[in-house]
Amino acid sequence: MLTRRLAIAGALALGLSLPFALPAAAQDAKIPVVASFSILGDFVKEVGGDRVSVTTLVGPNGDAHVFQPAPADAKKVAAAQIVFVNGLGFEGWIDRLVKASGTKAEIVVATKGITPREMADEDEDDHAAHDHKDHDHDHAKGEHDHDHAGHDHGGIDPHAWQSVANAEIYVANIRDALIAADPAGKAAYEANASAYTAELQALDAQVKAAMAAIPESRRRIITSHDAFGYFGAAYGIEFIAPQGVSTESEASAKDVARIIRQIKAEKIPAVFMENISDPRLVKRIAKETNAKIGGELFSDALSDDKGPASTYIDMMKNNITQLSSALSS
Ligand code: ZN
Repeated sequence: MLTRRLAIAGALALGLSLPFALPAAAQDAKIPVVASFSILGDFVKEVGGDRVSVTTLVGPNGDAHVFQPAPADAKKVAAAQIVFVNGLGFEGWIDRLVKASGTKAEIVVATKGITPREMADEDEDDHAAHDHKDHDHDHAKGEHDHDHAGHDHGGIDPHAWQSVANAEIYVANIRDALIAADPAGKAAYEANASAYTAELQALDAQVKAAMAAIPESRRRIITSHDAFGYFGAAYGIEFIAPQGVSTESEASAKDVARIIRQIKAEKIPAVFMENISDPRLVKRIAKETNAKIGGELFSDALSDDKGPASTYIDMMKNNITQLSSALSS
């Protein structure tokens, strides 16, 4: 393929007309693709290798829930041959952006085939909290009905990448989309995907072992928004968050008060900051409860190149290191 490309480049440089029509992919040095956010961009880079050029819309430490696309983003989308999105309601702004850009790109939903985590309503979500509430209040039911109206706890949880087994599904979907767009690269995409999947399988085993080593009674923590449901379900840790699965609405005073009560009553050992969220709320909760601040977890975005989580694999390793050191007493 390289030789053929060089031959074509040579022919073009000499001003010779090519005797055969080439698909777009072969004419360009790399296939231009867009990924909606940094974690997905990392998956696409791993599978695409040197055949694709990946542009990311929501960059390192960015919050995709509240992203506001700029005209430059529409240009990136317009120039793309494929636009990879997470789906599951994560990028509420994507449809409008795609339309505004006028792009002909294929839109590929990378979570296709993943079992979405439906947000239980609070009755199931917060068993223990409600047990306390029922003791304390006569109108517990009315109270959480009110909470519901206040902000969105329901719906689909978009943070599927937080389970490594799901990341393997993202990779398979990306591989298939790249092969469809660039059949000449089939062998390369398959080889890249399979090598990376092997790394993900090793990572999954590592996360499982690290979480299993934490005493079960200590596997409960607070984060600012509810981004770790898939992680919790896969690895047996309970995450409790004052904010729902999106960062769009602020946590209500009532939700914060409820969590403070819960931390005290259940002796939840640690609260964690997130790289995409304002740390003030979590710091305030820590101060009022004497829970320790366990460090910073990467939820919805990678770090920049200098940070501890510039790839998905480093992000997951960073998170388990933070969790292990705060929770293993
Ligand atoms: Zn999120």
